[in-house]
Amino acid sequence: MRFYIELDEVSDELLDKRSVTPENLARAANRILRPYSVEVRDVGWWSVYEIGQRLCDKYDDVPVEEMATRIPRVFIAGDACHTHSAKAGQGMNVSMADTWNLGWKLAAVLRGTAKPELLHTYSEERQAVAKELIDFDRAFSKLFTGRATASGDSAREEVGPEEFQQYFTAQGRFTAGVATRYTPSMITAEATFQHLAQGFAVGMRFHSAPVIRLADAKPVHLGHVARADGAWRLYIFADHNDPTGERSRARELCQFLASDASPLRRFTPAGADPDSVIDVRAIFQQGHRYLAVDKMPPVLLPRKGKFGLIDYEKMFCPRPDDDIFELRGVNREAGCMVVVRPDQYISHILPLQAHEALADFFAGILTDATEQPVLVRERRATVHER
Ligand SMILES: Cc1cc2nc3c(=O)[nH]c(=O)nc-3n(C[C@H](O)[C@H](O)[C@H](O)COP(=O)(O)OP(=O)(O)OC[C@H]3O[C@@H](n4cnc5c(N)ncnc54)[C@H](O)[C@@H]3O)c2cc1C
Repeated sequence: MRFYIELDEVSDELLDKRSVTPENLARAANRILRPYSVEVRDVGWWSVYEIGQRLCDKYDDVPVEEMATRIPRVFIAGDACHTHSAKAGQGMNVSMADTWNLGWKLAAVLRGTAKPELLHTYSEERQAVAKELIDFDRAFSKLFTGRATASGDSAREEVGPEEFQQYFTAQGRFTAGVATRYTPSMITAEATFQHLAQGFAVGMRFHSAPVIRLADAKPVHLGHVARADGAWRLYIFADHNDPTGERSRARELCQFLASDASPLRRFTPAGADPDSVIDVRAIFQQGHRYLAVDKMPPVLLPRKGKFGLIDYEKMFCPRPDDDIFELRGVNREAGCMVVVRPDQYISHILPLQAHEALADFFAGILTDATEQPVLVRERRATVHER
C-alpha cells in the first residue's frame, strides 16, 4: 500500500528535528481514514515532501523586456520552474510536456529549418500551462485539507465526498493532459476558421480518429501514424467532389503544393525528403474502394529516401461506421486544411482555397531554404554529424 498523508502545516522546526516519524505518519493516516483503520506493521520507505506552489516568471534567460532583441540560449523545464502538490499526479506529466514542447523547437532551430524566434514560444506556452496547473492544485489541495474536517477541526471548511468527486471528474480532461490550449502566437493562429472543423480545436492537441488507409485498406488511427520526427503535418480534409476531377478544391490545393510557390518547395532544404519539414496527408470523403491510388496528385505520392521510392501512406478514407468527418465536425461541403505542429498541437485551420494564407503562415515560422546563407547549411551539416 502507498499512502500520501496530508500533514497540513508543518513548522520548519518540526521538520528539522525529524519529528515526523513512521509512527506519527501511521497515526495521521489512521486519523484520516476514520472510521476505518490500518495496522501498520512495516514501513518499506517513507519521506516528507514539503508542498510549495511556486512558479518561475520565465523558463529561459531572456527577460520580457529584451525579447525583441535577444534569442534565448538557456532553458529550464519541469520541477525547476514549477512545483506544487503531488495530489493530482501532474508533476512529471507536465514536466515531460515541457520538454516535448521544447524539443522539436530546439531541433528545428539547430537544423536551421525554423527561425530562432520560435524559441521564445517555449516559455510563453509552458509558463501559462503551469500557471493553470498551480491554480488547479491550489483548489484541489484545499479540498484535501477540507476533508480533514472529519477529524473535528471546525476551523476548516467542510467538503463532502460528493463535492470532491465532482471536482475531480470535472477536471478529468485537465488531469488527463488533454485540456491544454495554447493561445495565439507565431505558431498558433486565431481560430477564424474553427467552424470548418469544430472537433479540431485550434491550440489544442490533434484529436485522433480512426480512418482507412487508401493504399492498403488498413484501418489506422490518423493521429497515431504521425511520427515524432519534427515535421509539421498538413491534413487536407477534402471537399466532397471527386479528388481526381476538375472541381475538386483538394486537387487544386495539391497542385499549388507542387508548384514553385509551394511552402514545401520553399522551406524544405535541398536534398531532404519532400515530407521532412511539411508532411502533407489527405483524407477523402469517398470510400477506399472508390478511389484509384495511382490517379491521385503526385504531392500525395512523394518519392523518398535513398532509392526514391514512393510513400503510399499519405492518403486516407473514412470508416463507414466511424466517419472522421462526422466525428470531428469537418464541413463536408467545403473541406478544410488542418495544420498540426510537430508536437501534435493544432496551429491553424484554413479553407482549402487559402493557398497564400498557408504559405504566409509557414513563412512566419520556417526559414526559406532557397535563401539560406551558406553558414547555416554548414552548421546543419555539423549538427547531423554529431
Ligand atoms: C511524493 C511524490 C509523488 C509524485 N507523484 C507523481 C505522479 O503520480 N505523477 C506525476 O506526474 N508526477 C508525480 N510527482 C512529481 C514528479 O516526480 C516530478 O514532477 C518530476 O520528477 C519532475 O521531473 P524533473 O526532471 O523536472 O525533476 P527531478 O525528477 O527532480 O530531476 C532533477 C534531477 O536533478 C538532480 N540534481 C539536482 N541538483 C543537481 C546538481 N546540482 N547537479 C546535478 N544533478 C542535480 C536531482 O538529483 C534529480 O535527479 C510526484 C512527486 C512527489 C514528490
